[in-house]
Amino acid sequence: MTTMQDFLDEKIKLPSPPAVALKILEAVRQDESSFDDLAKIIMADPALTVRILKIANSSLFGFPNPVESLSQATALIGTNALKNIALSFVIVQDNQNVPEGNFNLNLFWRRAITAAVAADTLIEYVKLQDRDIFVAALLQDIGVLILYLADPVAYGSLQDERRVNHTSICEAEHKQFDFDHTDVSHHLLTTWGLPESICQTIRLHHSQVKDEKYGESAMVLQLADKISALYHGNNSNSLSIEIHHSLEKSYKLSAEQVDELIDIVGDKAHELLELFQIDPGDIKPFSTIMQEANEELSRLNFSYAQIVLELKLAKQSAEQLAIELKLANENLRQLAFRDGLTGLFNHRYFQEILESELERSERYKHPISLLLIDIDLFKKVNDNFGHPAGDFVLKEVADMLTKLVRRIDIVARYGGEEFSVILPETALTGGKILGQRIRRGIEQLEIQYEAQSIPVTISCGLASNDFANTVVTRSELIKRSDQALYLAKENGRNKLEFQ
Ligand code: GH3
Ligand code: MG
Ligand code: MG
Repeated sequence: MTTMQDFLDEKIKLPSPPAVALKILEAVRQDESSFDDLAKIIMADPALTVRILKIANSSLFGFPNPVESLSQATALIGTNALKNIALSFVIVQDNQNVPEGNFNLNLFWRRAITAAVAADTLIEYVKLQDRDIFVAALLQDIGVLILYLADPVAYGSLQDERRVNHTSICEAEHKQFDFDHTDVSHHLLTTWGLPESICQTIRLHHSQVKDEKYGESAMVLQLADKISALYHGNNSNSLSIEIHHSLEKSYKLSAEQVDELIDIVGDKAHELLELFQIDPGDIKPFSTIMQEANEELSRLNFSYAQIVLELKLAKQSAEQLAIELKLANENLRQLAFRDGLTGLFNHRYFQEILESELERSERYKHPISLLLIDIDLFKKVNDNFGHPAGDFVLKEVADMLTKLVRRIDIVARYGGEEFSVILPETALTGGKILGQRIRRGIEQLEIQYEAQSIPVTISCGLASNDFANTVVTRSELIKRSDQALYLAKENGRNKLEFQ
């Protein structure tokens, strides 16, 4: 496993601090009243002087009157702040060139500067004293840059891999190097001679370890980085929830305060990024981000509603389908029981029902009769009027039979031009009366087909089970009524006979 020292020794020479930065740091370190030295260093670089004045006049400080000179700026913001601003400018400027690859340097500094602004804004809200928080937040991730510069290909693939595996950046770095970018940042800045408070805060900014001295500042760095990611990352919604949660829980800020803070960071960061000559990208006020997030959310809600609606419709049509299926099945069952031409029960169902009616009659010792009916000389109807006329006659006879019988009687088409009527609760005498009524009814039926009158008569054979004798089986009852029918034909047709 590569140790950090090995790694840094082997792979990279730590970048020297920019000459100006070094001078600034030395000047400040010497003693407290070093403003003159500091001013001299800064003023040697006119561009730097202009930018420092611009920053003194920016909303980061928000002075009511214009700040026109470095001495005025120092009086207002203090030597330390002046040093920090100068240092920040110099370091950012000095690190503007990295080899081509998948490292987005502009995004790196955009994130860093926004994090610095966020940290600077945050400490006011959480009432934390840390004069160097801006620089600490700005440089917290400089180790990432160093690691990338050491081996752009390897670090690039490490970043890709962690995105795929959803591991934290520190975890991924530890796996590869046995140290992470916070160690590198700390090491670099210590070597450069930055104050211990900055170096230690940076070292702890991803740490879960509680630290009495720098823990609070490290926590601010972490939160500041999240607020920055809110503006420059692509997880705004979950980050916003996380930031709200942390600030409301740990610092007892209200939700409104958190929203206000985040908006202020956005405004200030936009201004500072320009001063640092870093492309601000599409940094938008937080309220706009939230509005977009809400729009996205409502789009999601809409499509959710759409899905629910479609499911509902699908369910409805499934239910409708089920109803139709049930009806179709019922129809199918009916079809299985019914004769297609006349609509009467068919032969098979007749047999079933006769069986169960016989059982019932036997159980209760109630009489039952069976009437077999055959249309007389039906062949002639077909011959004289045609087969369709024959069909029509069959239907008319069937309808009339249904009308002539009682509600409890069951009419079936036995076959061809033969019909059967089951007469429950009916002994021979009642069967004769009913049979004659039916015979007469058909005789009197005036069938009109295509302006022609077709006269029709029937012959009826009746058999009963009235328990006077011992007729019990279905086939016997059928046989006897069939014999009676034969007799009716023999006796000249349009007759009722019984057995
Ligand atoms: P009988 O008085 O002796 O019963 O004489 P019939 O002509 O009625 O007797 P037969 O059994 O010889 O003839 C029955 C005829 O019924 C023969 C057949 O073509 C006809 N038929 C049977 N089923 C149908 C049908 O569904 N439609 C039509 N149009 N005719 C049918
Ligand atoms: Mg026949
Ligand atoms: Mg016949």
